[in-house]
Amino acid sequence: MPTIQTVTILPSLPERLAPLLTLARNLWWTWTPRAIHLFQDMDRELWERCGHNPVALLGSIEQPRLEALERDKIFLARMNEVLEELDRYLNFQTWYGTASEGRAQGRIAYFSAEFGLHESLPFYSGGLGILAGDHMKSASDLGLPMVGVGLLYKHGYFQQYLNPDGWQLETYPLNEFDNMPLTLVRDEAGEPLTVSVEILGREVKARIWSLVVGRVPIYLLDTDVPTNTLADRQITSFLYGGSLETRLQQEMILGIGGFRALRALDLCHTVCHMNEGHSAFMAVERIRCLVEEQKLDFDEALEVVRATNIFTTHTPVPAGIDRFPPELMKRYFAGMVKQLGIGMDDFLALGRMNPADPAEPFCMAVLAIKTASQTNGVSKLHAEVSRRMWAEIWPRIPRHETPITHVTNGVHTLGWLSSEMARLYERYLGSRWIDEPANHAVWERVDLIPDFELWRSRERLREWLIAFARRRLVQQLKAKGAPGYQLDQAEEVLDPEALTIGFARRFATYKRANLIFRDPERLAAILNHKDRPVQIVFAGKAHPKDMEGKELIHLVIQMANRPEFRNRLVFIENYDIEVARNLVQGVDVWLNTPRRPNEASGTSGMKVVANGGLNLSILDGWWVEGYQGDNGWAIGAGEEYDDHNYQDDVESRLLYELLENTVVPMFYTRNSQNIPVEWVATIRNSIKSIAPFFNTNRMVEEYANSAYLPKIDTWHNLEKEQWREAKEICTWKKAVQQKWSGVSITDVQLPMEGTPKVGDRLPIRAAVEMDGLSPEEVRVEAYIGRLDAEGNIPEGHALPLLYTGERSERGHLYQGHLLCLSSGRIGLTLRCYPYRKGLSHKFELGLLTWWDVGEAAE
Ligand SMILES: *Cc1c(COP(=O)(O)O)cnc(C)c1O
Repeated sequence: MPTIQTVTILPSLPERLAPLLTLARNLWWTWTPRAIHLFQDMDRELWERCGHNPVALLGSIEQPRLEALERDKIFLARMNEVLEELDRYLNFQTWYGTASEGRAQGRIAYFSAEFGLHESLPFYSGGLGILAGDHMKSASDLGLPMVGVGLLYKHGYFQQYLNPDGWQLETYPLNEFDNMPLTLVRDEAGEPLTVSVEILGREVKARIWSLVVGRVPIYLLDTDVPTNTLADRQITSFLYGGSLETRLQQEMILGIGGFRALRALDLCHTVCHMNEGHSAFMAVERIRCLVEEQKLDFDEALEVVRATNIFTTHTPVPAGIDRFPPELMKRYFAGMVKQLGIGMDDFLALGRMNPADPAEPFCMAVLAIKTASQTNGVSKLHAEVSRRMWAEIWPRIPRHETPITHVTNGVHTLGWLSSEMARLYERYLGSRWIDEPANHAVWERVDLIPDFELWRSRERLREWLIAFARRRLVQQLKAKGAPGYQLDQAEEVLDPEALTIGFARRFATYKRANLIFRDPERLAAILNHKDRPVQIVFAGKAHPKDMEGKELIHLVIQMANRPEFRNRLVFIENYDIEVARNLVQGVDVWLNTPRRPNEASGTSGMKVVANGGLNLSILDGWWVEGYQGDNGWAIGAGEEYDDHNYQDDVESRLLYELLENTVVPMFYTRNSQNIPVEWVATIRNSIKSIAPFFNTNRMVEEYANSAYLPKIDTWHNLEKEQWREAKEICTWKKAVQQKWSGVSITDVQLPMEGTPKVGDRLPIRAAVEMDGLSPEEVRVEAYIGRLDAEGNIPEGHALPLLYTGERSERGHLYQGHLLCLSSGRIGLTLRCYPYRKGLSHKFELGLLTWWDVGEAAE
């Protein structure tokens, strides 16, 4: 084979057009319509061919065209306006600037295995990546001092195409880093800056690339470095590809390498956020640095790291979580464990629900939970599921009190909004909706948009979607060598005036793409109604190894080929951000039929809202919080079933009934001006109730208020006093662990005479023996709730008792009052747990002792 030297040739832009490169290299343009139009107008055809990638566009545009643009005064004026807009964006006073005034400054590092930012950057696979991308965009809008950390994959996530029989095939295009808005980070000598991670005795090097999202940089690591072995160069080849061992290596690069990259870049890290467990080795490296440089012992370093780490879990099914066999971990982490100054068993315990079980695999989510002081799910329901899923980590704590909270997901409104709707909002809402998408009062103003204008925009958006679908179908058919008459048919597929439903997502089985096909005849009758036609646009990829998912796609294609569905059902191949954007902007109804409670949040339904689309969904994920009765439709009432077949029967029937009796009639009931008045009112309700809450600006503010800001303070306080507080907590925890078996509730006094009535206040007194701990270190609570059949209190709530300052011979005395709020039979008991200020939640030690008469009598 000949020796091939690669040379990168940079575009030569005329000087006056050079600022376009600045624009192209900041992803701010992706959510700024005027910037998009600017690139688009340079050469529309080339823009499409480049996959909407302005860096590639500027690199391949013909010189004569550039020279013409350089002399085009109007183009130059538009360019300068956009540049000024960018300048304003980067310099205006932000939410964070105000919120953090007078506080210590810090930096938040956000670790994620994927970032879904734009279709021209195909290193995302689905919801998790899109959420990370939207998180970055909102962090930029709000002015958070955030940096993203991830991996740069040599191959994009796969592109999907279907063979003529409707089976999914995959290709993995090579990402051309030089044609992306990436900058290779170099050291002072101009050499690529690298970090290295020890993998099985080899120092594997990774380069660092930067990507700019408004004000927020993202650093991406890539191991395709010439000095690495061939196998190591391929660690970052594929997103979620390769063997379990590749996965482990990737996660070591992401977590350990990613953290080292931040340090090499001199970006002091004060708070770290793990988006899913893939990056949890970051916590281990963080601990190692403190052990090595600050001379803390492992437990002390863990205190510091935990106090300033947060973890967001996204996966409600155990099978979706990374788990590594202990043998594999021992091979890969022998060196690291030595540096941490602990034994291998102690290390493996960090990734186990039951630390004492040597067979339990090492779980990345458990590692993340144990090294973070806030763990949250991505919707209220998902947090409930997560509390059940991870309850074993706190075996003594009632399941519903497992310390996992929720921060409900959102979407970056501007990134998903059509320019059509953006213009309407500018006219009627003013410009504040752009800077304050989370302000309810601003969205209330959609009431001012006249019905006919809102409806006309909806009609136009649907037409554009249909034009897009037809273009894509023609392309798909051409690629398969389809005969000309089929191309002609595709040019006319779908009806621009018919009620249009979108169904697009990963074809995972729990999402049940087949639910609507349960009764094909009934569906055909709905779609082919003479006066009230309905059509469905499908899109979605199945994971390459998921045969069941591929069967689902095959089923949809077979259905679409049936004569009774032709023209009413289409499948758009290669679901990505571009397809998603077109769909969520154009559809009238977004259909979502997951098997509850498997949809952690789901975000695509949120994307349709500001575009005037309506949700029709199972009450799962975010829709449990979003649905209000008058702002879309719920299939069922949030039931969960053991018999899946029966569930599918029931829920498909509910879906047909909703379509037949409610959705379709409402869409086609028009007033004298042909406007569906009730439908338009529902759109308004949907926008007003959903848009201000289910966006990432609100979500990022929540993360900032609940975690980022307080943890930045925590870091500074810890650092300022040379980690004194962490050391003290550590010493205290050890002492409490030793003494806790001597703590017991020895005497409880409840007034038992008579039958209390609603509104009565019942005094409660308790004595607690505490083996040398002081009353300030022991919190006592009454625990009250309805009794189940076995006489337990499954979901009680806690009522704190106060220390009286007195003691009897049975122990320190505490008291409180129970206010009887409702009638019925309730159970009541007492419990106590250790307390000290500075703990992140009351069960941080996992210790809890219940009132137990049997025990007290011993
Ligand atoms: C929004 C989005 C998702 C997330 O889909 P959900 O089914 O709502 O979780 C996945 N893929 C793409 C391309 C998206 O735009």
